[in-house]
Amino acid sequence: MESNTNPTPDKPVIQSILAEHKKQIKIGLTMCAHCSLCAESCFLYMSHEGDPQYMPSYKFLHSVGRLYKKKGDVSRAQLETMRDLVFENCVLCTRCYCPMGIDIPALITLGRRICRSQNLFRNYDR
Ligand code: SF4
Ligand code: SF4
Repeated sequence: MESNTNPTPDKPVIQSILAEHKKQIKIGLTMCAHCSLCAESCFLYMSHEGDPQYMPSYKFLHSVGRLYKKKGDVSRAQLETMRDLVFENCVLCTRCYCPMGIDIPALITLGRRICRSQNLFRNYDR
């Protein structure tokens, strides 16, 4: 059962999910060349006048990537910002193309799973 109703993030739960997907996250972080090619294949990025927060690479680097680098040690406010990135800024259409072979939608899906484990879901008030 990976659910947390406490406003303080449950670090061990986050760490255990990160550990399960360590290889995939490390590959994404290591292989990303910050070339921005994935941006052109994301209609949300293209329809938001180039707002970097809609860039596919930004969405995984600043959610799962950041959680991994911080070893799951994040505040509730930081997690809420990640929640907005992975739920509001992506519809998981899987159209983003990365020439390095990074599975961006899979990493964003993982970010959603971590958010859900901390009782953070899509924010319908936005
Ligand atoms: S296309 Fe791939 S390597 Fe380039 S910025 Fe996007 S995720 Fe990174
Ligand atoms: S899966 Fe998300 S990041 Fe990729 S193209 Fe679709 S909306 Fe953009």
